[in-house]
Amino acid sequence: MSEEASLRAEIVATARAMDDAGFAPSKSGNVSARWADGFIITPSGLPYARMRVDDLVYMGLDGEVEPGLKPSSEWRFHASIYKTRPEVRAHVHTHSPRATALSATRQGLPAFHYMIALAGGADIRCASYATFGTQSLADNAVAALRGRKAVLLANHGVIAVGATLAGAWMLAQEVENLAGQYLDILASGLEPAILDPAEMTRVIEKFEGYGKVA
Ligand code: 13P
Ligand code: ZN
Repeated sequence: MSEEASLRAEIVATARAMDDAGFAPSKSGNVSARWADGFIITPSGLPYARMRVDDLVYMGLDGEVEPGLKPSSEWRFHASIYKTRPEVRAHVHTHSPRATALSATRQGLPAFHYMIALAGGADIRCASYATFGTQSLADNAVAALRGRKAVLLANHGVIAVGATLAGAWMLAQEVENLAGQYLDILASGLEPAILDPAEMTRVIEKFEGYGKVA
């Protein structure tokens, strides 16, 4: 299999996993990976169960596209993040239930748990609201994603990015887990203790060596 064919297969498999997890109700969400001078992205509105590798759309970073299937309506934030974040090679955008519920409060996630550091810092921010599919949403997402690998989109969902599709998908699942825990704390009426920035810096440093062979 060519490198492009295996990347396309991985995008479809990631999109299916996202759907199977219940993170893409009503065919929401989208997935992409950097390829050549642009990226390969899921098409707009096509149910994941029917999605084939040939349905994926290759786009240039300015949105140039060959005639055929329509790319995801959110191609603008994928393109804007690839343009401004050279280390990012993959995106998973979900409407996962608990993180999406939290996004409707327009609050992000503070450091109530050390695993927040998996997204790269001491919090996961919530980007300001803008209509889906717009450049304003892309600009808001880029701003809130500064120094991070995950962001909530107000009244909408989640973007997780990574150096690989596996990394972006793993982070999207952890954001859903953390958002659920945070909502449970809020619902209890109890106040979470928030880890201080020095502790979060220590955690980030520990993550750098974690899971690697010494
Ligand atoms: P697409 O099907 O066009 O990718 O849109 C889904 C979505 O989540 C929009 O924000
Ligand atoms: Zn969406």
